[in-house]
Order: sequence, then C-alpha cells, then structure tokens
Amino acid sequence: MAVQRILSYYDEEDRKILKSKSEPVDDILCEETQQIIQDLKDTLLNENEKTKGGIVGLSAVQIGVLKQICVIKYDIYFLTIINPVVTKTRGELIYRESCASSPDTFITTHRFQKVWADYYDENNKLKHADQGGLFSVILQHEMDHFEGKCLVGEEAIRRLEEKKENNKNGIDQEN
Ligand SMILES: [Zn+2]
Repeated sequence: MAVQRILSYYDEEDRKILKSKSEPVDDILCEETQQIIQDLKDTLLNENEKTKGGIVGLSAVQIGVLKQICVIKYDIYFLTIINPVVTKTRGELIYRESCASSPDTFITTHRFQKVWADYYDENNKLKHADQGGLFSVILQHEMDHFEGKCLVGEEAIRRLEEKKENNKNGIDQEN
C-alpha cells in the first residue's frame, strides 16, 4: 500500500503541476503504470476514510504523475480509466462539485448529462462507458484534470485572491 500526498491548489508548486497536461499512457501493463494505478486506489481509499466517503475520483496528476490515468469510486463502480476519449455527449446536468485538491470549495457546474467514452482499463482492455448522472460528471471532472484544468481549483484560487484583495483594502470578511 502506497498512499501518496494529494497535491493542493493552494500550494504554488503543486498548482504548476496541476495546471500541466497529462500524456496518454503507452504501456499499461508495465510495472510503473501498475504502481501508479495502485497508488491512486490506495490514496483514494485512504482519503475516503478520512473524509467519510467524500472522494469519488482521483487523477494521476493529483499525485504528481502527468499520465492520463484516473480511478473512480462511486456506487457499484470502482474503475480505473486510462486514455479516455469521449465519443458522444447528450443533454445538460447542473451539479455541485468539489475536488480533493481544494476540498473546502464547492461550485455549481454545467456538465453533459451523459457521455459515451472509450478507455482502457488496468488490464489493457478497451472498454466503453455510457453512464449518465454522477458517473459522467466525475468522468468529465477527471478528464479536465488531464487537460490541466479544474473548475473547482480555479474557483478556489479566485476566491482566495479576492479575499486577499479585500483584506488589503480593509474590507471586513464575514467569516
Ligand atoms: Zn478534481
């Protein structure tokens, strides 16, 4: 078991990594990739214990590895998703999201209600996802991480900057 530290949007060095793009994985079955997958699972489960089930997805970039790998644990799913490509989308869903890299921030997002995606699992098998609802929201959130984006993290930083600015101007904060 190798629990890794989850990178934080509030740390400048971490943020540089979180804003970087992740590369597709060439060799899924090699020892290095398998270790990353195991670390992601261990880290997600450990974080879930601490937050009582608050973490539903974790991307490799969040433990400092710029590879297109994420794990999703939600409902009956505990999936490893590698090199996902969205092939079709439908509808819209408004959701309230948070992120393990800025866990105190919740924002309202507009996501596709359903996404169809091709991806590889940890056994190098090609799979097709076609779930809607929360699963599709998590997948879209994790795929943003692969692009160096995170709506929650960016909002967390915006709020922090705003707070700093207000403090500088002597405006009282409510909390
Ligand atoms: Zn996230």
